[in-house]
Amino acid sequence: MIEFEHVTKKFGDVTVLDALNFQVRRGEKVTIIGPSGSGKSTVLRILMTLETIDDGVITVAGKPLWHERVNDQLVPASQKHLREMRKEMGMVFQQFNLFPHMTVMRNVTEAPMHVLGLSKEQARERATKYLDLVGLIDHADKFPSQLSGGQQQRVGIARALAMEPNILLFDEPTSALDPELVGEVLGVIQKLSQEQDLTILLVTHEMQFAKEVSDRVCFFDKGVIVESGPPEQVFCHPQEARTQAFLSNFI
Ligand code: ATP
Ligand code: MG
Repeated sequence: MIEFEHVTKKFGDVTVLDALNFQVRRGEKVTIIGPSGSGKSTVLRILMTLETIDDGVITVAGKPLWHERVNDQLVPASQKHLREMRKEMGMVFQQFNLFPHMTVMRNVTEAPMHVLGLSKEQARERATKYLDLVGLIDHADKFPSQLSGGQQQRVGIARALAMEPNILLFDEPTSALDPELVGEVLGVIQKLSQEQDLTILLVTHEMQFAKEVSDRVCFFDKGVIVESGPPEQVFCHPQEARTQAFLSNFI
């Protein structure tokens, strides 16, 4: 479903991803853990086409993401190709990134109307379905500032779902929340993780939660995957010294 082959990303002189190889199967739920600055957000942002890459090839759903195939050659992707590829993915951000001047309903209907070309009625129907799923249908006419952080993040999730992507990317979705609001957001992610078809990539420091929802955990450090395996193995029997040192901070 997602494949990074030798992907390198630099910011100036800093190599953030270093010839990264990384695969996620269709329907797989993968958690990325790792220290600050290890490149976790960069991986998600590159998939969302919010950042370019310097080298390597990324394939999503069998198609190159940052390239297009022309006469059997890979050439840099056109804007049109990137727009098509973006439809595969939805992202939920740490800081929610809702539109503050729009109601909850409009936050969720905006992209389906303007990116997918749905009519207002179709978009509202979809938004209703996903706001209901995250338990916020009664708040559809409110503005983000009238909601708690946990509610805002659940709107963020409904907004991503309303595009009906095959892949959902979560970048520390609960780390901006007060502790008592974390559970309601994790509850929604837990529910989504039971959807067989949805591919989920989650960056989080909620290790217990990662253990419950992921098929696989990848430990990133300095732009490479140091260790990867079932949660039970990575959390309880880490093989690499760097993984052990990182996890010891969470006990
Ligand atoms: P955190 O746990 O703190 O969120 P992360 O693993 O998500 O860290 P990234 O945000 O992917 O880390 O950043 C990796 C490195 O790239 C860091 O050194 C960061 O300073 C750098 N970086 C990220 N975005 C940019 C940018 N737009 N310009 C310059 N440097 C950047
Ligand atoms: Mg980050």
